Amino acid sequence: MSGQLTPHQLGGRAVALKQAPLACPRCSKQFAFATPWHSYLGHLGLHGLADNHFGGDIEAAQRRLQRNGLARQDPTPWNGAWPKYKPVCEV
Ligand SMILES: [Zn+2]
Repeated sequence: MSGQLTPHQLGGRAVALKQAPLACPRCSKQFAFATPWHSYLGHLGLHGLADNHFGGDIEAAQRRLQRNGLARQDPTPWNGAWPKYKPVCEV
């Protein structure tokens, strides 16, 4: 075996070597140089969640995910100090 591998010979490394664009094509958010491809895919997933459940408001989708993440980490959910978990399908 000699020379460079073709893309199909790279397997999972082909995806690992991909980099995010410098700016999101949907919201023009700037990405740092060498942002991993999977981070970019996560950002696009947040756009999808916002489109499907929050009328395209990406910040509302992000707030819901943050609050739900905190609700799941609440060590004493019975005292009501933190907001309760709210499924994303409930707007
Ligand atoms: Zn974006």
